[in-house]
Amino acid sequence: MTPTGCFIGGEWRDTDRRFPVTDPATGQTLAEVADAGPADALAALDAAVAAQDTWAATPPRERAAVLRRAHDGLVSRGEEFALLITREMGKPLAESRAEVGYAADFLQWFAEEAVRISGEYRVSPGGDFRIVTARQPVGPCLLVSPWNFPLAMITRKVGPALAAGCTALLKPAEDTPLSCLLLVQVLADAGVPAGVVNALPTSRPAPLVERLLADPRLRKLSFTGSTEVGRLLLAQASGNVLRTSMELGGNAPFLVFADADLDAAVDGAVLAKLRNGGQSCVAANRFLVEEPVAEEFAGRLAERMKRVRLGPGTDPASELGPLINARQRRRVAGLVDDAVAHGARVLAGGHAEGPFYPATVLTGVPAEARIHQEEIFGPVAPVTPFAGEDAALALANATPYGLVAYLYTGSLARALRVSERLEAGMVGVNRGLVSNAAAPFGGIKQSGLGREGGFEGIGEYVSTKYLALDTAP
Ligand code: NAD
Repeated sequence: MTPTGCFIGGEWRDTDRRFPVTDPATGQTLAEVADAGPADALAALDAAVAAQDTWAATPPRERAAVLRRAHDGLVSRGEEFALLITREMGKPLAESRAEVGYAADFLQWFAEEAVRISGEYRVSPGGDFRIVTARQPVGPCLLVSPWNFPLAMITRKVGPALAAGCTALLKPAEDTPLSCLLLVQVLADAGVPAGVVNALPTSRPAPLVERLLADPRLRKLSFTGSTEVGRLLLAQASGNVLRTSMELGGNAPFLVFADADLDAAVDGAVLAKLRNGGQSCVAANRFLVEEPVAEEFAGRLAERMKRVRLGPGTDPASELGPLINARQRRRVAGLVDDAVAHGARVLAGGHAEGPFYPATVLTGVPAEARIHQEEIFGPVAPVTPFAGEDAALALANATPYGLVAYLYTGSLARALRVSERLEAGMVGVNRGLVSNAAAPFGGIKQSGLGREGGFEGIGEYVSTKYLALDTAP
């Protein structure tokens, strides 16, 4: 059974009101979930504050063991999680299974990292004292996550928070709270003590989050979502000069040079575009292809995209599920219509089909079309030709975003040269997928602050304390 309450101080609690969670493929209500308000948020913060010191003092090996058990619990209930993700978010079951694996990887990785939080012992340059550093948990954290990866975007935060010795308040997206609530049950079953993890589903995130950010007992905000909301929360977090990690939007360029293996580039393009139905911050947004191969690449991509089977995520034959909601569908359709009005040619797809939007390829999209400036968040691939490396880089970097870029070339020297000049936190070289729990995920420019995963991930949840030790005789 999937819980539907708030989780505060180790207990499931109801609220005066509830809100519906719907299946995007059918519009059916899946569950009515507790609708937390600012008062519930403060109760959760009370619980997190009360549990903080004990959890921080729990031996790292014990914190690791809890995370390891949570990993095993998540894996053993993998099919239940996968079906839940598909039902509340819409992606095909195979992709939901992949998300469960990805989500579990973060729990495993940070269980391993919990025992490796290190410090330093150094001799001062003058030799007269010793510099000792320790890394301590920052304290209670608010973790705000999006709907597109409703499980993995939470384990990527709660894993390092718990490993570092921080308590946490989870605020899932209103479209997809159920995966979060089931995860919280798995964490509780794994032995996470009362108050260490709390969950606040809500249909009214703004007042709840604002109230928490105004409370000086909260010590950290980790947010994954749009740049627009991230900017607003950064302003709110400035009041208490809060530690922040911001995983925001992207506008990824996908560069194909004429010396690339075109078969591999098309395979990578399909993966980078269609994973999660294009509803991913690392989805390839702009396909920039060197002139001699641009037409052939666009044609081959269109052939592949035309064959992609649309359907509900629960149907094993479906390769592309519905977009998350009607608002998102209108947005994607609006971007395509705007590009067509500016003279773009549609090689595949191009029109919504009920709750679905088909895999779409556009060519001849002029620079001023909105689809080049905005995050598409849907299965639409605009292909633009370029002439030469400098022109490719100018187009690729012409965006305020800087999350990820993809680059296909047969030349190692070019791969390194271009990667160094790409304004992005991550570069996929001859690969359409970069995400991995062991790698530092994050962006530059308006794509965010901080990194999740990798060796860097746990650093977001600790502060360095420096002790000056006198050694004078
Ligand atoms: P969103 O910004 O609308 O919402 C994200 C979260 O913020 C949700 O939990 C939502 O309830 C909450 N929220 C919304 N308005 C708020 C407000 N005024 N005050 C406080 N909280 C508020 O984003 P979304 O539509 O859920 O997710 C899509 C966005 O997330 C895309 O821009 C995507 O690129 C980004 N994303 C980034 C990463 C990354 O790691 N960089 C990963 C996944 C998604």
